[in-house]
Amino acid sequence: MTTITTSAAAAFRFDNSYARDLEGLYVPWKAAEVPEPKLIRLNRALADELGLDAQALDSPEGAQIFSGNKLPEGTATIAQAYAGHQFGGFSPQLGDGRALLLGEVVDRHGKRRDIAFKGSGRTPFSRGGDGKAALGPVLREYIIGEAMHALGIPTTRALAAVTTGEVVRRERNLPGAVLTRVAASHIRVGTFQFVTVRGDMPLLRKLADYTIDRHYPELRGQPDACLGLLKAVSERQAELIARWMNVGFIHGVMNTDNMTLSGETIDYGPCAFMDHYNPATVFSSIDEQGRYAYANQPPIANWNLARLAEALLPLFGEDQDKAVAQAMEVLEAFQARYQHYWLQGMRRKLGLRREEADDFALATDFLKTMEGQSVDFTQAFRHLSDAAEAADASREGWLRKLHADDAALDAWLPRWRARLNAEGIDPAQRAQAMRAVNPVYIPRNHKVEEALAAAVDLGDYTPFEKLLAVLQRPFDERIEFSAYAHPAPAGESAGYRTFCGT
Ligand code: AMP
Ligand code: MG
Repeated sequence: MTTITTSAAAAFRFDNSYARDLEGLYVPWKAAEVPEPKLIRLNRALADELGLDAQALDSPEGAQIFSGNKLPEGTATIAQAYAGHQFGGFSPQLGDGRALLLGEVVDRHGKRRDIAFKGSGRTPFSRGGDGKAALGPVLREYIIGEAMHALGIPTTRALAAVTTGEVVRRERNLPGAVLTRVAASHIRVGTFQFVTVRGDMPLLRKLADYTIDRHYPELRGQPDACLGLLKAVSERQAELIARWMNVGFIHGVMNTDNMTLSGETIDYGPCAFMDHYNPATVFSSIDEQGRYAYANQPPIANWNLARLAEALLPLFGEDQDKAVAQAMEVLEAFQARYQHYWLQGMRRKLGLRREEADDFALATDFLKTMEGQSVDFTQAFRHLSDAAEAADASREGWLRKLHADDAALDAWLPRWRARLNAEGIDPAQRAQAMRAVNPVYIPRNHKVEEALAAAVDLGDYTPFEKLLAVLQRPFDERIEFSAYAHPAPAGESAGYRTFCGT
């Protein structure tokens, strides 16, 4: 039995609007009791942002709370219902099979945030699953979420990770864990699909109103608010995916149940950052067709938005031909909106202040200099920042070294130089601006694996803590962390595979 506790640690000030307003979209449910909860890590900065007592929570009592054994007063734990297209195939009912929403708190900035468990036991949506999470995937989600946040990319974040003292059976026996996740909300494209496929018009209207109120309040009361919602979500997703592409992030499982209406990145399962630039990069072992490969992410996002459009269509008015035409217009605009954000990001990465007609070609041609040469994507942009430090070619050595054959780079660099010189900005200043957007540190796959293996196999969290510390300041080069700035030695990284965190 879970019990309710009212200590200082448990003072969360919940206000549960989802449970209050959206009956039919969830099932009240309780977390499973676990034998021996231990707090691995509390995200103190985030706890503080949420107005929680970080000091009091960083304790054995915090472990009881973040395992679900003792719930804070005001929680109304629910399993949320949603549907979704997974790898293109539609499931009318997915839902929180191993997650629970505890409730919402309004943070110090006045923003409403969901607090949810992942790995808290079976629910009515569990299907064949055990409702549990293993330690490795919990730590992976913690690491990548924090890394994305530090890179300035909208994301859900980990508030806490605990081990449960249970064994979770996967390919082998693994330590069980629970992640506490904070999100702007957990409303997904699949949440809308769940309602539309059931033909529940009143609930669809309620869900749209709720989403607008929570994430796009500027649309409230507008005549075409639901079409406005599709446009606004599309805009945020265009920006989000552009930011992913700008840092080489590959989500790995962009199913419609893993795409939020808020525009936050969610569900870090088989995700990974690309090392060597190759648009076809896929890490996920289950993505055999490469549906969610690096370069496919923008069109897949648009495909998911088309599924959202279908779900919203009944709200666009009586005239469904007109509704379809309006939705098509939004979907057809996506590519250009995505490209707009991508190019905005690339201009900053390349150190360009002005906007010129040739910028798109300049940016794509820089990527082409890397193709087929095993050039590390992250290092290339960082070394380009170094190259910008001098007005001449004297600082280009590190960048050149990354290229086995620098003929393409030879042709590209003078074009870039000419473009920079025309702007007349102090080179040191430009290099500094570039270093503020081109990270030194991303979650390198071998470093993530190393941190997970030490924790899972040895109970040693030192590498995990160290990796988090490095990734907290991704743009700030620190000599002592140079090992974190490189991809794994060739051969070690070849064929790197990630597995779904189930
Ligand atoms: P995900 O791959 O984490 O996005 O999950 C896809 C769907 O599978 C969601 O409905 C999850 O709740 C469900 N699911 C994943 N892992 C488990 C598990 N171990 N037990 C029950 N349901 C699960
Ligand atoms: Mg999911």
